[in-house]
Amino acid sequence: MTDIPEQDDTTIKGNGIKGNGIKDNGQDSSQASAPDTAGDSVQDATDTPIDTAPAAPTATDFVALQIHERLLKAIEAEGFSAPTPVQQMAIPPALAGHDLRVTAQTGSGKTAAFLLPMLQQLIANPDYQAGTRALILLPTRELARQTLSQVEKLARFTFIKAELVTGGEDFKVQAAKIRKNPDILIGTPGRFIEHLTANNLDFSELMMLVLDEADRMLDMGLNEDVLRLAALCNPARQTLLFSATPGPSSMADVVAAVLRDPQEIRVNRVQDLNEKTRQQIITVDDIAHRERLTQWLLANETYDKAIVFTNTREQADRLGGYLRNPSMKLYVLHGEKDQKERKQALDRLRNGDIHVLVATDVAARGLDISGLDLVINFDMPRSGDEYLHRIGRTGRFGSEGLAISLVAAHEWNLMSSIERYLRQQFEQRLVAAHPGNYKGPKKLKSSGKAAGSKKKKLKKKVAAAKNAPGKKSAAKKSAGKKPAAPDLKGGFATPKRKPTA
Ligand code: AMP
Repeated sequence: MTDIPEQDDTTIKGNGIKGNGIKDNGQDSSQASAPDTAGDSVQDATDTPIDTAPAAPTATDFVALQIHERLLKAIEAEGFSAPTPVQQMAIPPALAGHDLRVTAQTGSGKTAAFLLPMLQQLIANPDYQAGTRALILLPTRELARQTLSQVEKLARFTFIKAELVTGGEDFKVQAAKIRKNPDILIGTPGRFIEHLTANNLDFSELMMLVLDEADRMLDMGLNEDVLRLAALCNPARQTLLFSATPGPSSMADVVAAVLRDPQEIRVNRVQDLNEKTRQQIITVDDIAHRERLTQWLLANETYDKAIVFTNTREQADRLGGYLRNPSMKLYVLHGEKDQKERKQALDRLRNGDIHVLVATDVAARGLDISGLDLVINFDMPRSGDEYLHRIGRTGRFGSEGLAISLVAAHEWNLMSSIERYLRQQFEQRLVAAHPGNYKGPKKLKSSGKAAGSKKKKLKKKVAAAKNAPGKKSAAKKSAGKKPAAPDLKGGFATPKRKPTA
């Protein structure tokens, strides 16, 4: 596995967040180098702003942000008492007409951070004859629905109308809704391209384009669709790009092609994300051990709502079948589930009819479920960004969360790379009821990765045994011996790894 280079704390003017995606094939995808956007200002909620340009004003209440009174009324009705950091940082430059590239995680209040300036601009510049005035591109139908619901809430005291343009809905019905000329269209790139091909869309008078969860869209390979749609938008429009992570390397191309002299806003550095979420690992032997542990955790942890992530659909189905019993009602969500099932699962989870969701990453993208306080990674996610997306579902708005990752021997180095990416050290925990044999590598490199692979060691032992006939080989002596159990304190092992400064 390739070593992930250490992250640099310093942020360079005009540079994006620094970070590396970590892929399971051992390749470092840190080519997600930040775009060269010389002249941008960079703000960071945690660092002092380091740009020479004055920092954009921040305001601790919505009135000071100079939000329109009809929107203030809706904000009050929503019970938002103060703007969140991303709203404080993004709303003033957005209202001033700047293009923005914002790094903020789901749950930070980022949707209202782009909706409020959007609604305000639409109120200030009414034009009933124009085509679509505002376009929000995002990765999934669920996120589209959640965003529409936020628009409806925030625009309830205005004349502004929005519609969804996503797959899974009747195309002709959608075309008829588009013809009614709603101010805002919200949807996934693929369906927009279909309507474009059918000549149903006109973005020539667009005022604002938003790319929400841009990193997810690019991860899903939607770059070309996004670029194609952006190229058809009014060139004089304003563009706001939001992502939770620095995203894949293609992000730089999209930023360069779609944004114009953007201001860069970072609400968190990668390592500050999810600080409200306690992160633990439990070492596991095999799938059966993972299943037993997951069942135990769901039965013994204190939580309101939990989500268990698996890397494959098959595993999600299998685990759902294993866990389901009269006292454990749950839903399984993956890419093959139809729209109705997905909606039902989310509604029932939100209402509290069920408390557990077993899901793949694709199915869980963009979910905004409040009260989700336990995330279990049944297998290790394949990249650092994927890990962030998974655990980003807990610890929202100040609530505490717990994220537990089950780590087999072959996943140790991946886990260790993710720790280094996040600059965090996960607590190693042992569940006494299901201890297992694997307790982590015996020896660790200073990076936290396993020192020497088993294969190499075995080869050495076999070679040594061959060279010393008559002698009982070390391999034979140690055969069947369990590795020493770690010194457990209150159910938690003393970390064997050196802190990664
Ligand atoms: P988001 O990050 O946009 O997914 O927002 C997550 C949740 O935060 C949504 O349910 C919003 O309704 C809520 N929210 C957004 N802004 C605020 C605010 N200023 N105060 C309290 N809650 C908010």
